[in-house]
Formats: sequence, C-alpha cells, structure tokens
Amino acid sequence: MVEMVEKSEEEWKLTLSPEQFKVLRQCGTEPPFSGKFVYHKEDGVYVCAGCGNELFSSDTKFESGSGWPSFWEKLSEESVDLKPDNSHGMRRTEVVCKNCGGHLGHVFDDGPNPTGLRYCINSLSLDFKKEESED
Ligand code: FE
Repeated sequence: MVEMVEKSEEEWKLTLSPEQFKVLRQCGTEPPFSGKFVYHKEDGVYVCAGCGNELFSSDTKFESGSGWPSFWEKLSEESVDLKPDNSHGMRRTEVVCKNCGGHLGHVFDDGPNPTGLRYCINSLSLDFKKEESED
C-alpha cells in the first residue's frame, strides 16, 4: 500500500513540470493528440506522474479516437477516485488519483465492453512502467 501523499501546491511546483502542474493540480486539459501516450502500445502499467500510484494497465487501453489515452477499466480499487464535475456547463465525472488527489481526466459511459466505461486521461498526468520480461 502506497502512503497517501499530501504536498503543498508549492511543493508540487518543485516536483512537476509546469505543464504537469497545470493538469494535475489545476485540473487542466492537454490539447487532444498532443500527449505522448495517445498512441502508446507497450505492455505495462500507467502510473500517476505525481506520486507513482498504479492507475491503469495497458491491457485495458483502447483507441477511442478522442486524442487522449483511453482505458475501459481502472487497475484496482486503490487507483482512482471519482468526483462530480459540473464546470464548463457540462455534467461530467472527474477522475483523480486516489493517492495524491491529482487530476487525471474524466470518465464517460460510452466505452467498449466489458465495462462500457471510457476513462479519458491526460498523458501529462501519467508515467509508464514497462512490464518486466521474465527471463
Ligand atoms: Fe497520484
């Protein structure tokens, strides 16, 4: 179990890039098709760029055409929290890292089977851990 991360916004500023800070700590959104993980296809685990919490498996990544990395399921119960977000005149559900509270993106109910969910996540909120080959 990862320990809950609580940092001041000043501390976050020191550890994140300005672009990551804007998305993770200020609920920003990267421009579509701009992120490094949109077409990323390696096997492994996507983790929070803020705290390293394991968020999504490459096994549940799919091509949504939205321009953001998309997943149909979270990795575990420890991965994310969901919050209602009624900003910008829309009713959406915000996805945040359960460990550090960092903004990741939103989840929609127009995803593929078996969940019907589409976690629409900013590349800037993610890092990637490649699956270790067993040899
Ligand atoms: Fe986090």
